[in-house]
Amino acid sequence: MSRIVYVNGEYLPEEEATISIFDRGFLMADGVYEVTSVLGGRLIDFDGHAARLARSLAELDMAQPITRDELLAVHRELVARNGIEHGMVYLQITRGNPGDRDFAFPDPETTPGTVVMFTQSKPDLLDNAAAANGIKVISLPDLRWTRRDIKTVQLLYPSMGKMAAKAAGAGDAWFVEDGKVTEGTSNNAYIVKDGRIITRELSQDILHGITRAAVLRFAAEAQMVVEERPFTIAEAQAADEAFVTSATTFVTPVIEIDGAALGGGEPGPVAKRLREIYIEESLKAAL
Ligand code: PMP
Repeated sequence: MSRIVYVNGEYLPEEEATISIFDRGFLMADGVYEVTSVLGGRLIDFDGHAARLARSLAELDMAQPITRDELLAVHRELVARNGIEHGMVYLQITRGNPGDRDFAFPDPETTPGTVVMFTQSKPDLLDNAAAANGIKVISLPDLRWTRRDIKTVQLLYPSMGKMAAKAAGAGDAWFVEDGKVTEGTSNNAYIVKDGRIITRELSQDILHGITRAAVLRFAAEAQMVVEERPFTIAEAQAADEAFVTSATTFVTPVIEIDGAALGGGEPGPVAKRLREIYIEESLKAAL
């Protein structure tokens, strides 16, 4: 059975869903996105994603063509229509179809944004090999643009990073700029040393992860010490443990960095505990 997807106000079978070849998302990567996890048919941290979406749009001077309440209704409708138990909802808003290719932004009055949403089922979202055994990461230079706080659909370099990781037998890559780790290709990066959780502070250098915000809040509530500052690959290799966070992987242990094993190559206790707390607390607040 084909998926039902959402395009500009309509629910359609995926084969019938189309957007214009002139859409600025397609021609210019002029679009933003969000990914919200679904656990037990409910949305994890929906309001965090809705708030970041509004911020991404505002930073790019793009109108928000759909309200938070409408977004929530569409998310729920797609989850219901596609019978999603565990998985995710992908949402993309672009600057629309001006009917031609032009670098200048079109007038939002005459060119409304394009809104696309679809679901992906992921039965193993909670229990999978990466969560249980941890992942290896390699380091790569961070060659992305420097507004990484805006969640745009310009994902070519992160895709190249994932491919380089795969070729090296690793699960992901950590990007490095000016000698310091920025973040993973699609996640925020953390190390743990002497019980302290260390992760880069928020700035335009990294995406302001919704999972990051929640995990740091839960860590503080559990009396864990959090230090928000940059760290080097050498410091990470000498850490007791490491992990990454994202909406679709929650908290995932990192067991090796550029070939150096951490904590004997086993997931560490802080990552394991934070994963448990994150999942438990997020489920309580799920919509
Ligand atoms: N950094 C980058 C570059 C990402 O692509 C993502 C995932 N979208 C994250 C961090 C994690 O953000 P979140 O917790 O909101 O999924």
